[in-house]
Amino acid sequence: MNFNTKTIHGNQKSDPGTGAVMTPIYQTSTFEQKSVEHHGEFSYARTANPTRTALENALASIENGKFALAFGSGMAAIDAVIRLLKPGDEVIANTNLYGGTYRLFEQIWKSFNIKFHYVNFTNVAELSQLINSKTKLLWLETPTNPLLQIIDISMIVKISKKNHLILAVDNTFATPYLQRPLDLGADIVVHSATKYLGGHSDVVLGAIITSDPEISKKLFFIQNTCGAIAGPMDSFLVLRGIKTLHVRMQRHSENTRKIAEFLQNHNNIEKVYWPGFEEFEGHKIALKQMSDFGGILSFKLKGNIKKINLFLKNLTLFKLAESLGGVESLVGHPATMTHASLSENQRNDLGITENLLRLSVGIEDCDDLIEDLERSIRAID
Ligand SMILES: *Cc1c(COP(=O)(O)O)cnc(C)c1O
Repeated sequence: MNFNTKTIHGNQKSDPGTGAVMTPIYQTSTFEQKSVEHHGEFSYARTANPTRTALENALASIENGKFALAFGSGMAAIDAVIRLLKPGDEVIANTNLYGGTYRLFEQIWKSFNIKFHYVNFTNVAELSQLINSKTKLLWLETPTNPLLQIIDISMIVKISKKNHLILAVDNTFATPYLQRPLDLGADIVVHSATKYLGGHSDVVLGAIITSDPEISKKLFFIQNTCGAIAGPMDSFLVLRGIKTLHVRMQRHSENTRKIAEFLQNHNNIEKVYWPGFEEFEGHKIALKQMSDFGGILSFKLKGNIKKINLFLKNLTLFKLAESLGGVESLVGHPATMTHASLSENQRNDLGITENLLRLSVGIEDCDDLIEDLERSIRAID
């Protein structure tokens, strides 16, 4: 089955009770059993709920995985992966990391004696040097937030396999429409389904997908025991979102390409970060492991914070907001939003200056989006 069919039909069946084509929202906590000896597929809704199961089956299908688990948020999913570890274990993560993931590692799990190292994964020698007998897990995102650094997944897979480690890839930015880490040899994929998989900025949900039966067994135990599950209504919304993922991602990518080219040619723009440019650092790797370049781009506007504010005030379609991946266009200011918890020095080291803006390009008519940007850039002249 091809990807665009999998988003709609992958591992899905009509509701066995009613024939409903779309799996209904099973808003129930418990299920009647036939007898003491004969328990059905569903018993108690923390363990499994038919709506969540339908979503988990869809998630496994689109990521080409054997098993999937849905959690209450992306952070709950990431937290569950770290619960595979024991005190004394070590994790190596790419330096460019979602802020919430860094906070979870440093402010929760570090105090349970799990050690986290951060290194630039494009520097394979440095990464390899950090691996020791306590290392258990490698963690990466690609493309990264907000500067769209591209990490060569196949290259990290080689290092991971050679050292018998688990490689987890946060595939939130790319989605399986653009990139499938399990096919490249990664062991675990995690998602903030809050973003593109849900796609309509109306739900918070997380997911883990794997093909490893051992890992899946442990993660299912963690999900059921710790209980950070996705609810039936939220599962329904993401299941519905996935059915249009391919159409949305195609338009997100198309609009972003046009906007990147527009900004690149504009006098008031200092630099545009978009992996589709031939001269962009990770371009060749992106071409190899992604089918297109996605819906996120960042750029530096010429000017100080006053001008940035003026630019943002003039935008009407792009809304200043956290998050990404919805049908509507958003603009973010990483220095004061996603990366506000870092010191100014840390931010500058990462290239997150006060004139940096990140766009989550929606699926509106692109001419309207470009008109919105052009008018607002002109307003700061
Ligand atoms: C948003 C996000 C998360 C966290 O997911 P929530 O659903 O907000 O808990 C993790 N990783 C990435 C890359 C994200 O963008």
